[in-house]
Amino acid sequence: MLIGQGFDAHRFAPDIPLVLAGVRIEHSHGLAAHSDGDVALHALCDALLGAAGLGDIGHHFPDTDPALRGIDSRILLRRTIEALAEHGLSVINVDLTLIAQAPKLAPYIATMRQTVADDLGCIPQRVNIKATTTEQMGFAGRGEGIAALAVVLVSE
Ligand code: MG
Repeated sequence: MLIGQGFDAHRFAPDIPLVLAGVRIEHSHGLAAHSDGDVALHALCDALLGAAGLGDIGHHFPDTDPALRGIDSRILLRRTIEALAEHGLSVINVDLTLIAQAPKLAPYIATMRQTVADDLGCIPQRVNIKATTTEQMGFAGRGEGIAALAVVLVSE
């Protein structure tokens, strides 16, 4: 068994789509990034790469690569899973925490779990996703952006 953790944060920008854990969320702002800004999947990719001892997302998918501009982060996740599979590693479970003052994410959690599970090739019960605010404290609390934490367990 190998454990990995990941963290990511992105800044809100107006008039772009908000995508979290592969799911389009209704909101006035999206997350600015070289990719689609899916902070949840970025944290998850980093956790998976961490468990596998394969570095980090910036190494595998650099934000200087024009081919990755605006890319769907689910593609990055699937490529990460393929990289782990090449090393004989498969995912046991995922635990994700989204840190956002707004929007309310509870209505989207079930779809997020199913979406991530589809990409990982596991059942949704192995993909836990939680959302919390920070009681208006810090950058997330002020509504400047969204952060995500991921922990994964993989097995050889
Ligand atoms: Mg990121």
